[in-house]
Amino acid sequence: MTIFSKIIRGEIPSYKCAENDKFYAFLDINPLAQGHTLVVSKREVDYFFDLTDEELAEMIVFAKQVAAAIKQAFPCRKVGMAVLGLEVNHAHIHLVPLQSEGDMDFRKDKLKLSPEQMQQTAESISRAFAQ
Ligand code: AMP
Repeated sequence: MTIFSKIIRGEIPSYKCAENDKFYAFLDINPLAQGHTLVVSKREVDYFFDLTDEELAEMIVFAKQVAAAIKQAFPCRKVGMAVLGLEVNHAHIHLVPLQSEGDMDFRKDKLKLSPEQMQQTAESISRAFAQ
């Protein structure tokens, strides 16, 4: 089982932002920007493009709703979307609030946010998602 499946099952803690029956959104623990969120498929599939066409379509629509919540909670020019999956073999999308192109550079130093800041960040996105 992947670390993300353990998070989805609640066996490992996460800063949850949103959820439906098929997808789970939570803060990336090493954020590129405040509000950097991961959208994960509850069905454990390694490679994003091995999801079914229907799952991919539904996942993008769910990510769209999460992106709107991120943008509302953390005003930004755009919310960027990226798929890497080089570290965790469980299909997921990165959503990153963008002010400039460099905000999407995965090689840059990550933000250091306290647990309290992470909790408040997740709550802000979660509130906006529920509206
Ligand atoms: P990648 O598989 O290359 O898309 O990278 C996996 C991402 O998951 C990285 O940005 C990590 O910071 C993030 N990550 C790994 N473990 C956790 C965790 N337990 N909670 C939140 N984010 C995580």
